[in-house]
Amino acid sequence: RTINRRARAMKSSDFHAEQLPAILRGAPLFQGVDLALLDDELRDTRPLCIEAGQVLLDPKHVNADIFIVLTGELLVCLEPRIVNPLVRLRVGDCVGELSIIDANPPSAYVVAAIQTNLLAISKAVLWRMLARQPLMALNLLHVLTARIRENNVVLLGSLELQREYRNKAETDALTGLHNRVWFEEIFPKQLELCERTGQHACLLMIDIDHFKRVNDQYGHVVGDDALRHVAMLLRRNLRSTDLCARYGGEELIVLMPGAELSQAGLTAERLREAIANTPLQLADGRQFALQVSGGIAQWPPGTSLEDLVRAADQALYRAKNSGRNQIAVSLFTRGLGSLG
Ligand code: GH3
Ligand code: MG
Ligand code: MG
Repeated sequence: RTINRRARAMKSSDFHAEQLPAILRGAPLFQGVDLALLDDELRDTRPLCIEAGQVLLDPKHVNADIFIVLTGELLVCLEPRIVNPLVRLRVGDCVGELSIIDANPPSAYVVAAIQTNLLAISKAVLWRMLARQPLMALNLLHVLTARIRENNVVLLGSLELQREYRNKAETDALTGLHNRVWFEEIFPKQLELCERTGQHACLLMIDIDHFKRVNDQYGHVVGDDALRHVAMLLRRNLRSTDLCARYGGEELIVLMPGAELSQAGLTAERLREAIANTPLQLADGRQFALQVSGGIAQWPPGTSLEDLVRAADQALYRAKNSGRNQIAVSLFTRGLGSLG
């Protein structure tokens, strides 16, 4: 670790010294402090000037001063240039206090937004000021508290953003259902949970019948509406504990934790009927109902999601071959292998 010599090398400021008391009186660190009593210490501080875009503090250098903004503005950024500033520091604000207290390098970059005059107070001088004016120690605590709160807001904001990105990455934009990415991550976890808690689970695979004809007859826009329609009926007919996702084009997949085959079969049948009996209304007054086929398999504890999906898919294949618009049940159990 090298000491921040950058600040020491900075050109000294042409800042007018007579403005200093007024600015310091407005600075949070000096609130209520009798500056006259610190006159000799203040003489040991150094005014500095940095240009727009110049880096004052960075995570690679330990910092040995606390800086008070006298004119201009500083920005706290995650890069050594001005991009998405996290915090703005204006006249009277200070910076560098955390790293001089714990002797660790700053966690972010501090960059001048415009030409900025600063007052550099060395660690030794600051400690002497705090010893002589205990009110300054209290002020410093307030400054630190404000900094922590500020950082929390920044952190919460970025967590929120992260959640939003994650949500987008895991949601199917067309239907609003979870997508394949989410399925791959969450379904195995749910099976692990079922394993640990000794719960049953059933998997249902659904495929819209002759969906290509819908596109051919009504066009892709209506095809998309039809997919959203089925997704809506799926959500409406499942329990909140059921997990469902868009598995592929017009294929949907549902995991029903806690359900035995008989219950899951009833749910699947109810869903199939709801879809067949709820026509999609088109803007021009036409309407048509879709039909779906489904394959359902009960999960034998200890088997993989992959095997379970294969079993449900084989059952779905049978449902298609037996005339569509029906649910077929897989005979997949441990020991029997995938019978479909
Ligand atoms: P089957 O009863 O055998 O399932 O017949 P199908 O026509 O549904 O089966 P196939 O797999 O041949 O066709 C699926 C069609 O679904 C083909 C594709 O154009 C359509 N499709 C898939 N994803 C979308 C989508 O996001 N929007 C629209 N409009 N169509 C889609
Ligand atoms: Mg289909
Ligand atoms: Mg298909």
